[in-house]
Amino acid sequence: MMQARSDRMRRQFKTIVFIPTMGFLHEGHLSLIKEGHKYGDDMVVSIFVNPTQFGPGEDLESYPRNLERDLVLLQKEGVNAVFTPDAKEIYGKEFQTYVTLEKLPNYLCGASRPIHFRGVATIVAKLFNTVKPHVAVFGQKDYQQLIVVRQMVRDLNFGIEIIGAPTVREPDGLAMSSRNTYLTPKQRISALSLYKSLQKAKELTKSGIQDAATIIDAATELIQSYPETDIDYIAICDTETLVDIQTINGPVQMLLAVQVGKARLIDNMLLNP
Ligand code: AMP
Repeated sequence: MMQARSDRMRRQFKTIVFIPTMGFLHEGHLSLIKEGHKYGDDMVVSIFVNPTQFGPGEDLESYPRNLERDLVLLQKEGVNAVFTPDAKEIYGKEFQTYVTLEKLPNYLCGASRPIHFRGVATIVAKLFNTVKPHVAVFGQKDYQQLIVVRQMVRDLNFGIEIIGAPTVREPDGLAMSSRNTYLTPKQRISALSLYKSLQKAKELTKSGIQDAATIIDAATELIQSYPETDIDYIAICDTETLVDIQTINGPVQMLLAVQVGKARLIDNMLLNP
C-alpha cells in the first residue's frame, strides 16, 4: 500500500521527503520534519521499533511507545503519511537478506552493539524501497548512523539525498532522546555530563590543545565524577571515515556513549579548532 502510494505521488511529480523514526516523538524528531519541509512537498514519517537493530538483552521490549500521541504531533507538523508497519509485515517468512557494511560498524557504537548497524542499514534500505523518497532526513544526534546511511546510499546507488539535521537539546544541553525517559531524577543530572564533556573538549581544542588523548582524558574524568555513569567509549574521529584521530589539526568529530542507569546515551559534537 505504501509502495503504491509512493508510485502515485511520483507520477504526480511530488518530491517525497522521508523521516524514519522509532516513535515516542520529541522536539528532535519534529525538527527533522520542519527541516524536511524545505526539501519537498510530500512528507512521509515512519514509526517502527526495528527488532533487528536491538541485540540480546537490549531494550527492545521496554523501548517507550505512544502511537496515539505521536500521530497527534505528526498531524500538527503537516505530515502527509505515517507508515507504521508491524514487524511481521517487515520481516516476512524466511527473511534472510541483510545489508552489512564492511568497516563503519566496527567502530564506536558498533563495537559494543555488533548487530546494530546491520539492523539499521537493512531497515533503512527496506523503508527506502517502500517509501521511495527523493530526500531523507536523519539527525546528527546519531552521527554514526548518519554516516552509515550515507555510505550505504552511495555504495548501493539509492539515489536519495541524505540530509543531516542538527541535534536538538534540552535547555540545559542534554540531547533529546526517547531513552531519556529511563532516567531517574538523579541520573538525569549525571546524563548532563555527556554534553558537559563535549563542551569542555570544545574549549580545550579552542585553547590550542591538539592531543586527542589529553582531551579524551579530561572528558573521561568529568563524566566519571558523576554517579552512575559507565563510559562505553569516548572517541575523536575523522568526520567522515570515523577513524580515530591522534592530533587535531582541523575539524574532527568527538563522539561518546555512556550508560547512565538503564539508559545508554550517546552524543557528539564537531570540534573545530
Ligand atoms: P529514533 O526515533 O531515535 O530512531 O530517531 C529517529 C531520527 O530522529 C534519527 O534520524 C535520529 O537521529 C533523529 N533524532 C533523535 N534524537 C534527535 C535529537 N535530539 N535531535 C535531532 N535529531 C534527533
